[in-house]
Amino acid sequence: MEHAQVLSALGFVENELAGGGLLVRSPIDGAEVAKVAETPSADMEHVIARSRAAFSKWRVLPAPRRGELVRLLGEELRAAKDELGALVTLEAGKITSEGAGEVQEMIDICDFAVGLSRQLYGLTIASERPGHKMSETWHPMGPCGVITAFNFPVAVWSWNAALALVCGNPVIWKPSEKTPLTALACKKIFDRAVSRFGADAPEGLMQVVIGGADIGEALVTSKDVPILSATGSTRMGGIVGPKVSARWGRPILELGGNNAMIVAPSADLEMAVRAIVFSAVGTAGQRCTSLRRLIVHKSIKDDLVTKLAKAYGSLPIGDPRAEGTLIGPLIDDASRDAMQAALDKARSEGGIVYGGDAVTAGVPGGAYVAPALVDMPGQTETVKTETFAPILYVMEYEDLEQAINLQNDVPQGLSSCIFTLNMREAETFLSATGSDCGIANVNIGPSGAEIGGAFGGEKETGGGRESGSDAWKGYMRRQTSTVNYSAELPLAQGVKFDL
Ligand code: NAD
Repeated sequence: MEHAQVLSALGFVENELAGGGLLVRSPIDGAEVAKVAETPSADMEHVIARSRAAFSKWRVLPAPRRGELVRLLGEELRAAKDELGALVTLEAGKITSEGAGEVQEMIDICDFAVGLSRQLYGLTIASERPGHKMSETWHPMGPCGVITAFNFPVAVWSWNAALALVCGNPVIWKPSEKTPLTALACKKIFDRAVSRFGADAPEGLMQVVIGGADIGEALVTSKDVPILSATGSTRMGGIVGPKVSARWGRPILELGGNNAMIVAPSADLEMAVRAIVFSAVGTAGQRCTSLRRLIVHKSIKDDLVTKLAKAYGSLPIGDPRAEGTLIGPLIDDASRDAMQAALDKARSEGGIVYGGDAVTAGVPGGAYVAPALVDMPGQTETVKTETFAPILYVMEYEDLEQAINLQNDVPQGLSSCIFTLNMREAETFLSATGSDCGIANVNIGPSGAEIGGAFGGEKETGGGRESGSDAWKGYMRRQTSTVNYSAELPLAQGVKFDL
């Protein structure tokens, strides 16, 4: 689909995306797609006030009714899947199946959240006092600010929004300034769900604000935004996290990763090669969970590298809309330059680089690169740094303890995996002495998480959890209540205080 067709299919009207101050270019060929109006900083106070007003109405609606809105959102996303997926491809440069896959992830989290809206369970707890009942209740918190990165321009919003909404919180979304169109399209889709839902949805329940760090900053520093979920670089999280904590807000941080795979001597190498190639070069290495480090047993390293070099040699790079393309463009020229700089640095540290060149791939104007395999003599500073591009550093190990130490010896802690058919190795990797990451897999690559599990990572990845499992608890406040239904007033811990 041509971009004008995609935009009109999503409900944008002529001139709606012209004349604004934020120029949007497609990473596919650098073509200008839109000029989007930015939110004036002075408006942020009103945006937040509208969200607070929406909160006072939304929090009293029963959670299953709130779930109904998210159910309708899921239906609208199903209806718009092809067009929204195509816009993700146009604006973020993902290949067609990954654009559609991202929208599928949104549909999946909506389904999950609908069920959740009837399962926001608390506990009853045995009280030590006779005639007393102790219980735990979960309550809505208030406006949830959501700041997102360019590389998952729509799914990350939905992981947060679907949960926040069923939990009783309005949402204010600041997308990446590199991908505002997909956010505005989601707002249109959300509004369609609201119009079917009816008057129970208050005005300002889900707002989108457009701009850079300064617009995000207004959410970060406002005491009226009790939850602030921020996805992006560790650099951004290092600024945002302390500011939210300093005003006693709750940060949910989803930051950079430096994900590794250990390949043990018993591994099924054919399977490992497929997993490595998908997770290292998929989305042109621009997933937070992309495979960046390969830690291979020295007895199989040469064999594995030979197989990988062969697979890397035949990967179709080019227009992400074309059938058969597996590697689309990087988001912009700055990303391509950062990749080249990292490869130069790796060379200076003794690395031997295969591939990694900038290529035109038949599409002038885009930042296309051949993925790089880099044989490293050890885990240098460059290897410990996340470069958001398809670079895979390969290192060797002799025993599992050394491999796990290498895997954990980086500042980030998002995703990890081991390929082995040895049960002791697999279980050790998953044990308290194994991987220190938020995600640890066996015989599966580090990327492509399902929404059913809690998603997030440790250390400089920020510690936040989103999506499935009990991540919803991050969007609610817990209240412990004790009720005395006896005629006595016994104190806890046997304390006597007789008047
Ligand atoms: P980025 O840090 O440049 O920007 C992310 C968002 O933060 C943008 O919306 C940006 O405008 C905003 N921002 C930047 N500085 C800010 C500030 N001081 N105050 C408020 N907002 C601010 O990241 P990016 O280049 O868009 O995305 C790539 C990075 O995101 C990678 O490091 C990747 O690993 C990470 N990421 C992590 C996850 C995860 O779940 N852990 C998911 C996707 C991406």
